[in-house]
Amino acid sequence: MKIKSIIQSTALATVLLITGFTHAKDSKTLDVYWVDVEGGGGTLIVTPAGESILIDTGLPGDRDPSRIHKVATEIAGVKQIDHLITTHFHIDHFGGAAELEQKMPIKNVWDNGIPKRDPDGNANSSFLLRIKPYRSMQVKKRNVIRPGIKLPLKQTENQPEVRIQCIAAMKKFIAPPKGSSLNPLAEKVKWIKEDTSDNANSIAVIVELGDFRFWDGGDLTQNTEARLVTPINRVGTVDVYQVNHHGLDYSNNAVFIQSLNPTVSVMNNGVTKGCGAATFAALNSANIKVMYQLHKNLRSDIENNTDEKFIANLTKDCDAHHIHMSVAPNGKKYTINIPDRSHSRTFNTRNK
Ligand SMILES: [Zn+2]
Repeated sequence: MKIKSIIQSTALATVLLITGFTHAKDSKTLDVYWVDVEGGGGTLIVTPAGESILIDTGLPGDRDPSRIHKVATEIAGVKQIDHLITTHFHIDHFGGAAELEQKMPIKNVWDNGIPKRDPDGNANSSFLLRIKPYRSMQVKKRNVIRPGIKLPLKQTENQPEVRIQCIAAMKKFIAPPKGSSLNPLAEKVKWIKEDTSDNANSIAVIVELGDFRFWDGGDLTQNTEARLVTPINRVGTVDVYQVNHHGLDYSNNAVFIQSLNPTVSVMNNGVTKGCGAATFAALNSANIKVMYQLHKNLRSDIENNTDEKFIANLTKDCDAHHIHMSVAPNGKKYTINIPDRSHSRTFNTRNK
């Protein structure tokens, strides 16, 4: 009996060595799961205290809510969504919320406030139809988020603070950190035609555990990105950058990414969406160590894929493999793995 349990614990230790950190919740890691919602948003965060925060819910229909529900319950081991952040009111970000809420409880919703009219200025009647299920969701509390607001997260003893703070919303920004100086990259910004769609209104958050910092900025577009980091960088640097707007070139201003200076990027692109040439040029200009993608981009005109070993799904009819990140309990390192491809790599959190 004893020998058997020794063998079992040795096997477990080996598994832990291979995967970096366990994501069982008693280990107090901070975990992030990028669910494959085929070029929409669906980023699930589980805090050391076991609270779940979902940023965006993919498209309506059974596919995306089912995929999110599966990763949440079967992989991450959570039974409800404690906080849902809807970055903006495009269908690939809010569309799956109502169906997900039928599968598991959603407690708190954070968004920019449901618009009364189509925020892109298109036909109002179709927007009102699309938004109706989202408006009808049975949730505990709805909150309008503002820059500076921190989600009320439970903390764990003997471990650095976990924080999720709103950095931008409705083109308004958090105040620059005290004593910050002018961004030397400011004059290199290439301004583009102003974006009048709801993308520019996206909620952006920074997720932190101690020194570790992760950026999720929804579909923020280039001029808003530039205003966030110039003339003063209000964001600071990050370890992990979720590539804005699925890797589309209307977003991902080079100066913005260089100013955030991430070690790793994760792109929630689709089979034919994202992976823009300018986005890759911007990511490359920021000396990122590893670029991850949820999907191999299969557009015939494109050669902008990262190395296949960093891509979770290679085919059109895929099995929706997710990407998982586990941040060590002290926030000093983090491991990114693609379970299906047996890929796992650990990075040190940078001094900031
Ligand atoms: Zn989108």
